[in-house]
Amino acid sequence: MFENAREFLLQIDNYPISSSLEQQITNSDRALFILHDQLNLAVFPRELLDRKPILIFVESLAYATSIPHHKQKLVYILSAQRHFAIDCYQNGFPIVNLFTEGFYADALEEFLTRYPNIELTYMQPSEWDTRSRMAALANIFGTRIKALPNQFFIADAEKFKPKIKKGYRLETFYRELRKQTGYLMQDGKPIGGNWNYDKENRRALPKQTIIPEIPEIKPDLITQEVIELVQKYLPNSFGKLDKFIYAVTRDHALELAQLFIETRLPSFGAYEDAIKVGEPFLFHSVLSIYLNNGLLLPREICEMAIAAYKKNLAPLNSVEGFVRQILGWREYIRVYYEAKMPDIRESNYFGFDNNLPQLYWDANTDLLCLKDAITQVLNYGYSHHIQRLMVLSNFSNLINTDPRHLNQWFWLAYVDAYEWVELPNVLGMSTFADGGILASKPYVSGGNYINKMSNCCSQCKYNVKEKTGETACPFNYLYWNFVDKHRESFTENGRVSLMVNAYDKKTENEKQEIHLSAIKFINGIK
Ligand SMILES: Cc1cc2nc3c(=O)[nH]c(=O)nc-3n(C[C@H](O)[C@H](O)[C@H](O)COP(=O)(O)OP(=O)(O)OC[C@H]3O[C@@H](n4cnc5c(N)ncnc54)[C@H](O)[C@@H]3O)c2cc1C
Repeated sequence: MFENAREFLLQIDNYPISSSLEQQITNSDRALFILHDQLNLAVFPRELLDRKPILIFVESLAYATSIPHHKQKLVYILSAQRHFAIDCYQNGFPIVNLFTEGFYADALEEFLTRYPNIELTYMQPSEWDTRSRMAALANIFGTRIKALPNQFFIADAEKFKPKIKKGYRLETFYRELRKQTGYLMQDGKPIGGNWNYDKENRRALPKQTIIPEIPEIKPDLITQEVIELVQKYLPNSFGKLDKFIYAVTRDHALELAQLFIETRLPSFGAYEDAIKVGEPFLFHSVLSIYLNNGLLLPREICEMAIAAYKKNLAPLNSVEGFVRQILGWREYIRVYYEAKMPDIRESNYFGFDNNLPQLYWDANTDLLCLKDAITQVLNYGYSHHIQRLMVLSNFSNLINTDPRHLNQWFWLAYVDAYEWVELPNVLGMSTFADGGILASKPYVSGGNYINKMSNCCSQCKYNVKEKTGETACPFNYLYWNFVDKHRESFTENGRVSLMVNAYDKKTENEKQEIHLSAIKFINGIK
């Protein structure tokens, strides 16, 4: 392994392209562009790789600064890409590593203009803007550019896209994919007799539960160099960079996946919705980071979990719950993105126009559940699903934040955030901004839910038992205020329409207190 990135860059004769590399490019006819979130040769066609094409990597300043991405996300993307390029180089591929102040396509345009002998292949990017820029490049260079279908997902997006409309929910999609893959199936039926085991899951965490530690991967010299680059040149990006714990190679990511399967998967299902102050990871896999840039592939992770079930190393409720997240939710979210872009970006069903409050940038709030989640995001670029959904998005919705602002925040604040996955989760699932295409109801709740699933409320300045007034948990009155103001979005769903009935049964005095507390709180927030 090379000692550091500089040595690697010198070895591959690059930055700028040297005469010997120039010679090699001039004598070649084919190059393959590998994007920062496509770091896995296993999904590229064998016959193409066997011809040992020049592999082109691009470090794009415009992508890095298009929004103030979390510093750890920038380190992760760049370091993982550099490690991957080194790996490919050691496996005999000629490597061109380009730097551009523009976007990826800008660097490629310059390259293709300079080397008219080269035909370029690339795999369709997952993110819309990069895909559009690559399509524009194809308009310039015509048949010299060839796009391969994106192979980083399990579901065929073209097949499922037409089905994405109101009423086509996750459950139907998930069952189809279970049948298609045969995962956790026997004789055409779900193993265990049920499609899901939610009843056994979603428990609060017992006080004395021992939480296995997440191993921290020590940054090597390449990562250290990237950390210095980000600290020096992109200091205004979001988040902290005091500690970087993530893997940046496939080997390390696979080790982490194996460790998850052995130590945390068995309790994943039971506690997947639990929140504990100061514990960002609990029994979660923390694998989205690696799945989303190709270091790990969704099939292999599902199959590792299923193998653990077959060896009796993890119970069915956990394994099915985990497989549903990847085979179900992750794939469904991606098909939704393919079906709904680009119009979906502007959706704002409730017409909210408040700005996202300052506390999302600095965690400066007395609400402990929010403070804890945002502190984790600042420190790690990570919080788990229920914090994203029932704390961060819930609060933002209850205070009538423009969902597009929240969407931008989720895109920049998380190490695992790419538009194809965060946008449907924010505008579809968590804020109901799409008007109910993805979710059947707005995911909003009062303090009781957070109290049931976490240990936040017992240590919080606000009182979760109080419904209105200065010392009451703001989630309580904000929730009832929301139910009343947006009752039409609840009535479609039988279960939540009960909440409208419950609100209507409150006394006039209670209703007035709710509205006054909510207005005061919303107007007072900065
Ligand atoms: C508002 C909001 C924003 C989100 N933004 C992102 C994002 O930018 N990137 C991202 O990867 N996930 C996002 N998610 C989904 C989910 O929260 C994360 O995938 C998960 O928390 C990642 O942590 P983990 O790897 O420990 O997941 P685990 O809890 O261990 O789950 C296992 C895997 O399932 C997949 N998964 C689970 N739920 C979803 C989902 N709803 N959508 C897509 N994949 C899912 C992930 O790949 C994850 O690694 C978001 C969810 C919400 C509610």
